[in-house]
Amino acid sequence: MPRERTYQTEAIILRRRNWGEADRILTLFTPQRGKIRVRAVGVRKPASRKAGHLELFHRATVFLARGRDFDIVTQAETVESFSRLRDDLVRSAAASYAAELLDRLAPEELENQDAYRLIVQTLEALCTDGNIALALRCYDLKLLDSMGYRPELSLCTVGGEAIQAEDQFFSPARGGVVCPRCANRTEGRYPVSLTALKVLRHIQRSPLADAFRLRVRTATLDELEPVLQHYIQYLLESPLRSRKYFSEVSRMQGGGEV
Ligand SMILES: [Zn+2]
Repeated sequence: MPRERTYQTEAIILRRRNWGEADRILTLFTPQRGKIRVRAVGVRKPASRKAGHLELFHRATVFLARGRDFDIVTQAETVESFSRLRDDLVRSAAASYAAELLDRLAPEELENQDAYRLIVQTLEALCTDGNIALALRCYDLKLLDSMGYRPELSLCTVGGEAIQAEDQFFSPARGGVVCPRCANRTEGRYPVSLTALKVLRHIQRSPLADAFRLRVRTATLDELEPVLQHYIQYLLESPLRSRKYFSEVSRMQGGGEV
Protein backbone atom coordinates (compact mmCIF):
# COMPACT_ATOMS: atom_id res chain seq x y z
CA MET A 1 0.00 0.00 0.00
CA PRO A 2 1.52 3.36 -0.99
CA ARG A 3 1.47 5.87 1.84
CA GLU A 4 -0.55 9.06 1.44
CA ARG A 5 1.60 11.90 0.18
CA THR A 6 0.12 14.38 2.62
CA TYR A 7 -1.42 13.98 6.05
CA GLN A 8 -2.37 15.99 9.09
CA THR A 9 -1.91 15.30 12.76
CA GLU A 10 -2.27 16.99 16.07
CA ALA A 11 1.07 17.35 17.83
CA ILE A 12 2.98 18.84 20.74
CA ILE A 13 6.22 20.55 19.73
CA LEU A 14 8.82 18.96 22.01
CA ARG A 15 12.02 20.26 20.54
CA ARG A 16 13.37 22.34 17.69
CA ARG A 17 16.70 23.13 16.16
CA ASN A 18 17.77 25.41 13.35
CA TRP A 19 18.46 23.81 10.00
CA GLY A 20 20.02 25.48 6.98
CA GLU A 21 19.32 29.15 6.23
CA ALA A 22 15.78 29.51 7.48
CA ASP A 23 14.41 26.07 8.37
CA ARG A 24 13.94 24.16 11.57
CA ILE A 25 13.85 20.47 12.41
CA LEU A 26 11.05 19.91 14.91
CA THR A 27 10.54 16.93 17.18
CA LEU A 28 6.80 16.39 17.47
CA PHE A 29 4.83 14.08 19.67
CA THR A 30 1.62 12.92 18.00
CA PRO A 31 -1.25 10.68 19.15
CA GLN A 32 -1.08 8.17 16.30
CA ARG A 33 2.55 8.20 15.22
CA GLY A 34 4.26 8.89 18.52
CA LYS A 35 7.51 10.82 18.19
CA ILE A 36 8.37 12.11 14.73
CA ARG A 37 10.92 14.54 13.38
CA VAL A 38 9.82 16.91 10.65
CA ARG A 39 11.22 19.86 8.73
CA ALA A 40 9.59 23.27 8.86
CA VAL A 41 10.83 25.07 5.74
CA GLY A 42 11.36 28.83 5.90
CA VAL A 43 10.02 29.04 9.43
CA ARG A 44 12.77 31.41 10.61
CA LYS A 45 11.91 34.01 7.98
CA PRO A 46 10.12 37.00 9.51
CA ALA A 47 7.21 36.61 7.10
CA SER A 48 6.60 32.93 7.89
CA ARG A 49 2.95 32.29 8.60
CA LYS A 50 3.70 28.90 10.18
CA ALA A 51 6.22 30.16 12.73
CA GLY A 52 3.76 31.41 15.35
CA HIS A 53 2.03 28.04 15.40
CA LEU A 54 5.20 26.00 15.83
CA GLU A 55 6.60 27.44 19.04
CA LEU A 56 7.93 25.09 21.70
CA PHE A 57 5.25 23.28 23.73
CA HIS A 58 2.45 24.42 21.41
CA ARG A 59 -0.34 21.96 20.75
CA ALA A 60 -1.02 22.34 17.05
CA THR A 61 -2.65 20.73 14.07
CA VAL A 62 0.19 20.17 11.62
CA PHE A 63 -0.19 19.46 7.90
CA LEU A 64 2.66 17.45 6.41
CA ALA A 65 3.93 16.22 3.08
CA ARG A 66 6.04 13.08 2.90
CA GLY A 67 9.68 13.89 2.30
CA ARG A 68 12.81 11.85 1.71
CA ASP A 69 14.67 12.51 4.96
CA PHE A 70 12.05 14.40 6.89
CA ASP A 71 8.38 15.00 6.28
CA ILE A 72 7.77 18.67 5.49
CA VAL A 73 5.38 20.94 7.42
CA THR A 74 3.16 22.66 4.86
CA GLN A 75 0.83 24.40 7.29
CA ALA A 76 0.16 24.59 11.05
CA GLU A 77 -2.62 25.85 13.29
CA THR A 78 -2.38 26.32 17.04
CA VAL A 79 -4.86 24.32 19.10
CA GLU A 80 -3.51 25.51 22.44
CA SER A 81 -0.50 27.76 22.98
CA PHE A 82 -0.03 27.25 26.76
CA SER A 83 1.07 30.88 26.88
CA ARG A 84 1.64 30.85 30.64
CA LEU A 85 4.58 28.51 30.05
CA ARG A 86 6.36 31.30 28.22
CA ASP A 87 5.65 34.03 30.79
CA ASP A 88 7.15 32.23 33.75
CA LEU A 89 10.66 30.84 34.12
CA VAL A 90 9.78 28.00 36.51
CA ARG A 91 6.81 26.86 34.41
CA SER A 92 8.86 27.05 31.25
CA ALA A 93 11.67 25.02 32.86
CA ALA A 94 9.09 22.46 34.03
CA ALA A 95 7.70 22.19 30.49
CA SER A 96 11.25 21.73 29.15
CA TYR A 97 11.69 18.89 31.60
CA ALA A 98 8.41 17.25 30.56
CA ALA A 99 9.31 17.59 26.88
CA GLU A 100 12.86 16.27 27.29
CA LEU A 101 11.72 13.26 29.30
CA LEU A 102 9.15 12.32 26.66
CA ASP A 103 11.64 12.90 23.84
CA ARG A 104 14.24 10.69 25.54
CA LEU A 105 11.91 7.87 26.60
CA ALA A 106 9.76 7.60 23.47
CA PRO A 107 10.96 5.48 20.55
CA GLU A 108 10.55 6.98 17.06
CA GLU A 109 7.22 6.46 15.31
CA LEU A 110 5.46 4.30 17.87
CA GLU A 111 1.83 5.11 18.58
CA ASN A 112 1.21 5.94 22.24
CA GLN A 113 -2.05 7.76 22.81
CA ASP A 114 -1.72 7.54 26.60
CA ALA A 115 1.58 9.39 26.46
CA TYR A 116 0.02 12.02 24.20
CA ARG A 117 -2.87 12.64 26.60
CA LEU A 118 -0.39 12.72 29.44
CA ILE A 119 1.84 15.44 27.96
CA VAL A 120 -1.24 17.52 27.09
CA GLN A 121 -2.72 17.20 30.58
CA THR A 122 0.64 17.95 32.17
CA LEU A 123 1.22 21.11 30.11
CA GLU A 124 -2.33 22.16 31.04
CA ALA A 125 -1.58 21.53 34.73
CA LEU A 126 1.63 23.56 34.49
CA CYS A 127 -0.50 26.52 33.35
CA THR A 128 -2.66 26.40 36.49
CA ASP A 129 -1.83 27.54 40.02
CA GLY A 130 -1.32 23.92 41.12
CA ASN A 131 1.86 22.52 42.61
CA ILE A 132 4.46 22.33 39.83
CA ALA A 133 6.78 19.82 41.53
CA LEU A 134 3.81 17.53 42.22
CA ALA A 135 2.66 17.78 38.60
CA LEU A 136 6.12 16.68 37.43
CA ARG A 137 6.26 13.70 39.78
CA CYS A 138 2.77 12.58 38.66
CA TYR A 139 3.97 12.95 35.07
CA ASP A 140 7.14 10.93 35.79
CA LEU A 141 5.19 8.02 37.23
CA LYS A 142 2.44 7.98 34.61
CA LEU A 143 4.87 8.38 31.72
CA LEU A 144 7.08 5.54 32.99
CA ASP A 145 3.92 3.47 33.15
CA SER A 146 2.82 4.31 29.61
CA MET A 147 6.29 3.52 28.24
CA GLY A 148 6.37 0.08 29.87
CA TYR A 149 8.60 0.99 32.83
CA ARG A 150 5.99 1.00 35.61
CA PRO A 151 7.94 0.82 38.87
CA GLU A 152 7.00 -2.03 41.23
CA LEU A 153 5.92 -0.39 44.48
CA SER A 154 4.05 -3.15 46.33
CA LEU A 155 6.30 -6.22 46.22
CA CYS A 156 9.97 -6.49 47.07
CA THR A 157 11.74 -6.82 43.72
CA VAL A 158 14.41 -9.09 45.25
CA GLY A 159 12.47 -11.49 47.50
CA GLY A 160 9.03 -11.07 45.95
CA GLU A 161 7.26 -10.62 49.29
CA ALA A 162 4.62 -7.95 49.95
CA ILE A 163 6.32 -4.98 51.52
CA GLN A 164 5.57 -4.07 55.13
CA ALA A 165 4.64 -0.69 56.61
CA GLU A 166 8.22 0.46 57.20
CA ASP A 167 10.88 2.50 55.40
CA GLN A 168 12.10 0.77 52.22
CA PHE A 169 14.71 1.03 49.47
CA PHE A 170 14.41 1.55 45.73
CA SER A 171 16.56 -0.19 43.14
CA PRO A 172 16.70 1.44 39.68
CA ALA A 173 18.18 -1.72 38.15
CA ARG A 174 15.31 -3.83 39.52
CA GLY A 175 12.75 -1.15 38.72
CA GLY A 176 11.13 -1.08 42.12
CA VAL A 177 11.15 -1.40 45.87
CA VAL A 178 13.59 -3.55 47.84
CA CYS A 179 12.68 -4.42 51.43
CA PRO A 180 15.13 -3.68 54.28
CA ARG A 181 15.91 -7.41 54.69
CA CYS A 182 16.96 -7.82 51.04
CA ALA A 183 18.61 -4.39 50.81
CA ASN A 184 22.02 -5.40 52.17
CA ARG A 185 22.46 -7.90 49.33
CA THR A 186 21.31 -5.41 46.68
CA GLU A 187 23.74 -2.97 45.08
CA GLY A 188 22.74 0.49 43.90
CA ARG A 189 19.66 0.99 46.06
CA TYR A 190 18.43 4.22 47.58
CA PRO A 191 16.38 4.73 50.74
CA VAL A 192 12.74 5.67 50.37
CA SER A 193 10.65 6.48 53.44
CA LEU A 194 7.28 4.84 54.03
CA THR A 195 5.60 8.25 53.61
CA ALA A 196 7.23 8.85 50.21
CA LEU A 197 6.40 5.32 49.09
CA LYS A 198 2.74 5.78 50.05
CA VAL A 199 2.58 8.96 47.95
CA LEU A 200 4.18 7.19 44.97
CA ARG A 201 1.67 4.35 45.23
CA HIS A 202 -1.22 6.76 45.59
CA ILE A 203 -0.17 8.67 42.47
CA GLN A 204 0.38 5.43 40.57
CA ARG A 205 -3.16 4.17 41.15
CA SER A 206 -5.01 7.52 40.91
CA PRO A 207 -6.34 9.09 37.72
CA LEU A 208 -3.99 11.88 36.70
CA ALA A 209 -6.45 14.71 37.39
CA ASP A 210 -6.90 13.46 40.98
CA ALA A 211 -3.16 12.94 41.45
CA PHE A 212 -2.46 16.56 40.46
CA ARG A 213 -4.69 17.71 43.33
CA LEU A 214 -3.10 15.63 46.10
CA ARG A 215 -1.87 17.49 49.13
CA VAL A 216 1.76 16.52 49.63
CA ARG A 217 4.28 18.20 51.89
CA THR A 218 7.22 19.86 50.12
CA ALA A 219 9.68 17.70 52.10
CA THR A 220 7.99 14.55 50.76
CA LEU A 221 8.00 15.86 47.20
CA ASP A 222 11.69 16.66 47.62
CA GLU A 223 12.21 13.02 48.57
CA LEU A 224 10.30 11.62 45.57
CA GLU A 225 12.35 13.55 43.06
CA PRO A 226 15.72 11.75 43.48
CA VAL A 227 14.06 8.33 43.79
CA LEU A 228 12.36 8.74 40.41
CA GLN A 229 15.37 10.45 38.87
CA HIS A 230 17.74 7.62 39.82
CA TYR A 231 15.37 5.29 38.00
CA ILE A 232 14.92 7.57 34.96
CA GLN A 233 18.65 8.14 34.69
CA TYR A 234 19.23 4.39 34.86
CA LEU A 235 16.77 3.84 31.99
CA LEU A 236 18.17 6.68 29.87
CA GLU A 237 21.80 5.96 30.75
CA SER A 238 22.51 9.68 31.12
CA PRO A 239 21.04 12.61 33.04
CA LEU A 240 18.33 14.92 31.75
CA ARG A 241 19.76 18.37 31.12
CA SER A 242 16.51 20.08 31.99
CA ARG A 243 16.33 18.45 35.42
CA LYS A 244 19.28 20.50 36.66
CA TYR A 245 17.94 23.62 34.96
CA PHE A 246 14.53 23.20 36.56
CA SER A 247 15.97 22.74 40.05
CA GLU A 248 18.22 25.80 39.66
CA VAL A 249 15.39 28.00 38.44
CA SER A 250 13.05 26.73 41.18
CA ARG A 251 15.64 27.44 43.87
CA MET A 252 16.15 30.96 42.54
CA GLN A 253 12.42 31.60 42.63
CA GLY A 254 11.89 30.08 46.07
CA GLY A 255 11.00 26.46 45.43
CA GLY A 256 8.84 24.51 43.04
CA GLU A 257 5.63 25.67 44.65
CA VAL A 258 4.10 28.81 43.24
ZN1 LIG B 1 12.75 -8.47 50.20
